[in-house]
Amino acid sequence: MKKHQVNSPRTPLYRDTGFELYNAETTAGSFSEETLHEREPEMYIYSRYRNPTVVAAEEEIMKLEKCEWALLTQSGMAAIDTAVSVFQEAKDTKPWFFFTEIYGGTLSYIDSILRKRRGIDINTLSPVDGSYDLKEFEKIISEIKPAFVYAETISNPLLVVADIQEIIRISHKYGAKVIIDNTFATPLLFRPLEHGADIVVHSATKYLAGHGNITAGVICGNDQELRKAMVEYRKFVGHMLSPDDAYRLNTQIKTFDLRVKQQCRNARMLADWMAGEKSVERVFYPGLSSHKTHDIAVKLMGSEYFGAMITFDLAGKTPDEKRKKRDAFIAGVSENIKLIPTLGDPHTILMPVEAVWGAKYPEPGMIRLSVGFENYNELFETVSDAIRHL
Ligand code: PLP
Repeated sequence: MKKHQVNSPRTPLYRDTGFELYNAETTAGSFSEETLHEREPEMYIYSRYRNPTVVAAEEEIMKLEKCEWALLTQSGMAAIDTAVSVFQEAKDTKPWFFFTEIYGGTLSYIDSILRKRRGIDINTLSPVDGSYDLKEFEKIISEIKPAFVYAETISNPLLVVADIQEIIRISHKYGAKVIIDNTFATPLLFRPLEHGADIVVHSATKYLAGHGNITAGVICGNDQELRKAMVEYRKFVGHMLSPDDAYRLNTQIKTFDLRVKQQCRNARMLADWMAGEKSVERVFYPGLSSHKTHDIAVKLMGSEYFGAMITFDLAGKTPDEKRKKRDAFIAGVSENIKLIPTLGDPHTILMPVEAVWGAKYPEPGMIRLSVGFENYNELFETVSDAIRHL
């Protein structure tokens, strides 16, 4: 069959599993150079190693995070597994350090896989009264000298903003690399690599893809040695994103800026309004001056965008009353706001905190909203109506 050159500005969807390598010499050459080339190989070999449609989507993410390389993976968890696993060096593995206000799935991975199966020496620090004690952090890492320090810019579900600039400064002082999960902040709010972080990971499932229809992850960085190690790990473990998902991600990421700005604007207006409502006891939103880490948020992100996640606690005299109000709210908004366990979707969605994070946050009246980019007036009407009828 004849191959056509088509005058399209888009990288097509290449579903090829293996690519044509022509002869023995070009085959040997392309295999030996596989991990060396920075972006585009001279010749593609096999889609689990590299795929042109995936590379095209990676280039879009490089523009957003303003970095030298980005590697897409099948999920956010695959990105995290790749990012941390390249620091495992058999019996020479150094301790690893994690701040604990991170995604619950990451905490389970740390416990079940890193600690119990791989026997890694894991060290952690939890926030006290809603923020991290960085003096205590420095004390710990000056003693244990970890290979890396891992944190999330904005945490889940209380939206604690970590002082990433300070974390980077202190970590580098003791020779530790820094890995930041920037999923909640997105490159719109903060780009950790520009502040010296070594690796950024995202669950691209969330704001980067932004439509609740792709599961993907990405690892971003500037260091070429780390890139080589991650390319190799992704290839051998098989964490590569599928070309179909990469093609769709590449389309959806083009509206990233528009979508996320609108989501942040909607969230800010809603959080401001909620903060003045009697039936809402507490509102957790980094853009509110009442938030424990508001000052850090302003330092990192400026004063315009503070993300699109809001967690709030409905008022009630007893846990049962709070629970009833929570259930009434969920039922009241259910026509327009669905209970869906993800975030960053086009429409506002919610999660009841106690049902998911009950062990850590036994908060019967608490709800986490992932605010969408729908028309604000409609969103406000839905939420205010439900709150009025509690
Ligand atoms: N990191 C954060 C902050 C998350 O919220 C999630 C999932 O919710 C992940 C990582 C894991 O991503 P995925 O579900 O795409 O594997």
